[in-house]
Amino acid sequence: MKIIIVGGGWAGCAAAAEAAKIGAETVLLERTDMLLGTGIVGGIMRNNGRFTATEEMIALGGGDIFELVDQNYRHENISFPGHEHASLYDIGKIPGAVTRYLTGLGVDIRFQARVTKITKDADRITEVITKQGETFAGDVFIDTTGTAGPMNNCVRYGNGCAMCVLRCPSFGGRVSLAGLAGVKEMQGVKSNGAIGAMSGSCKLYKESLSPEIVELLDREGVAVIPIPADLVENHLDIKACQQYALAEFAENVILLDTGHAKLMTPFFKLSRLQKVSGFENARYEDPYAGGKGNSMRYFAMAPRSNSLQVEGVDNLFCAGEKAGLLVGHTEAIATGALAGFNAVRYAAGKELLVLPRELAVGDAIAYVKDQMKTSEGLGLKYTFSGSVLFKRMKELGQYTTDREEIRNRVGDLSLTGVLSSL
Ligand SMILES: Cc1cc2nc3c(=O)[nH]c(=O)nc-3n(C[C@H](O)[C@H](O)[C@H](O)COP(=O)(O)OP(=O)(O)OC[C@H]3O[C@@H](n4cnc5c(N)ncnc54)[C@H](O)[C@@H]3O)c2cc1C
Repeated sequence: MKIIIVGGGWAGCAAAAEAAKIGAETVLLERTDMLLGTGIVGGIMRNNGRFTATEEMIALGGGDIFELVDQNYRHENISFPGHEHASLYDIGKIPGAVTRYLTGLGVDIRFQARVTKITKDADRITEVITKQGETFAGDVFIDTTGTAGPMNNCVRYGNGCAMCVLRCPSFGGRVSLAGLAGVKEMQGVKSNGAIGAMSGSCKLYKESLSPEIVELLDREGVAVIPIPADLVENHLDIKACQQYALAEFAENVILLDTGHAKLMTPFFKLSRLQKVSGFENARYEDPYAGGKGNSMRYFAMAPRSNSLQVEGVDNLFCAGEKAGLLVGHTEAIATGALAGFNAVRYAAGKELLVLPRELAVGDAIAYVKDQMKTSEGLGLKYTFSGSVLFKRMKELGQYTTDREEIRNRVGDLSLTGVLSSL
């Protein structure tokens, strides 16, 4: 069984880990020279309902990548406005740790392998072909190419290319595998009706901040610094991550220590930021043009079943942002593991797994699919860490940080360890 995964963000990495673990020959094709995609500049894990989802995946036997991330934190169990028990991974160490982990599992990782063409036989993909001219044949394919950019979308629907970590000018923009296979994809919309959403955080060089702020970040992992009223900028309504669209995030500079200082706003005019005490020398690390904009996302989501099989192509699965308006690493890793599992089950001629709605992860996958049938639902974003999905988790009684309760919930459904073998 040969599984070809296109896109090495968190979803693709989790799919690759799962497929290789349960015995498939696994190839992971990544457009750039690093794994983790937008995750290279992320870091927030286990906040609010993400804790529950993470522990569910561990109990299901598909939490390997979560356990690896747990070993690479700079700060654990911190709080910041609206968010409890968050942990922050070290963005300097995590891409290397994941690359070594997948290589150890036998995953064949190819960098600078940007898929731009495919070969199809009726409703099946037979091969993918990279811009560099290499061909990869497989039994089953997984689209984890994400929804961010490329540059023309950032220019048309955002504030221009902000020079983000996706580095489209250097490696070529995102190309959707489902799109190449002829699938009609869906797009998210902002509250003003325009399509896409702007990424919600930037990174500042810590060394460009005052020693007091750096000391606070190193010690606490978080710094909340009030912004004088005349300097406030409010970009909350265009954010992809609606869980941080709270007034506190406009009225304060909220920084999290992921190695750099993660600034929890889509962008902030540099000359204005430099007027805030402690930020006189502030410099953006990501995106380089964080003073004027950020990457744009949610342009290409595939219609799919709750087993994450893409509609209209027999041997194609999807995960992460490609699988819907799901925001976050946890959401990408959880769906990635399920897509990796089901891709191998499909190749082996076995029944596909749909996670039951009694579980937070199963409910989220089904709920987002239903929500995306309505124009109102396409205007929202879904994450275990806040906004509508976290509210729903609490209403359904699914949110808990009690590991034993989560293990029992999975056990009562006879699903303990189901993702650990074929
Ligand atoms: C600035 C920023 C900060 C964030 N911070 C956080 C955070 O702290 N916590 C959190 O939970 N979430 C955060 N998020 C959201 C989170 O990163 C994403 O929702 C999630 O990681 C998406 O993962 P993905 O694998 O679906 O997509 P992506 O991360 O977009 O990965 C897709 C990958 O596919 C590759 N690719 C695309 N086309 C091709 C092709 N044709 N051939 C080969 N490869 C291709 C891309 O290069 C990329 O590596 C942040 C997002 C951004 C942009």
